[in-house]
Amino acid sequence: MSQILRVQDLHVSYGHIAAVKGISLAINTGEITALVGANGAGKSTTLLAISGLLKSASGQIFLEDEDISQQSPHHIVQKGVVQVAEGRAILTTLTVRENLELGAYTRKDKTQIGQDMEWVFTLFPVLKNRATGLAGNLSGGEQQMLAIGRALMAKPKVLLLDEPSMGLAPLVVQEIFRILKEINQTGLSILLVEQNVRQALKIAKHGYVLENGSIVLSDTGANLLSNPKVIEAYLGA
Ligand code: ATP
Repeated sequence: MSQILRVQDLHVSYGHIAAVKGISLAINTGEITALVGANGAGKSTTLLAISGLLKSASGQIFLEDEDISQQSPHHIVQKGVVQVAEGRAILTTLTVRENLELGAYTRKDKTQIGQDMEWVFTLFPVLKNRATGLAGNLSGGEQQMLAIGRALMAKPKVLLLDEPSMGLAPLVVQEIFRILKEINQTGLSILLVEQNVRQALKIAKHGYVLENGSIVLSDTGANLLSNPKVIEAYLGA
């Protein structure tokens, strides 16, 4: 099994506060990998380090065989590691279509960009219906869909998602997770960071449990879902 992304002994600190304390993990090509844990465990910090938005104190991040840990966020996106931001960060005063076009800003292949826009509209028909409307008028769930669509427009090799379920109603969460599975079925590798441990492990082939900046469990999604420690700490009775 080849690995699209590999994190090796990653340490990240905020000043003197160590947030990520030497974690190692891998994302198999074409799979959904989940990184789950409680509030403050270090999940967002890990994603920000992978995206190059936070400098790591030490450790390596490999995209295929290339160490990208010292590269700029811009280069990392261009190489295909694309993060869907937490809190969505869409541009509310631009239209839905303009937001999607911005996702493709590093690309020049116009025909392919057009095809990818059509693909995003197939995945999220609601975005097609609202294409000329302002992004700020979308509901929370629709904004999350737009944020995912915009990331797809960058033609990622690996998609990083930071809590796509945050603040959304259960039915909307289910819909978004269903679409993530559909996106994955096209062959795209996904790293999914979630506090919604149950839903994330349900769609993930492999999962890692992060506690206080360290990985405490690593197993298949299915095994983690039935692991007594995971059930007790994250899934309730
Ligand atoms: P959440 O679900 O709340 O985003 P998380 O698992 O993503 O949680 P992080 O946000 O990565 O966790 O935080 C990891 C640790 O780093 C926490 O102890 C947090 O308080 C600390 N931390 C996060 N951001 C900062 C910051 N800007 N300055 C100082 N400490 C921070």
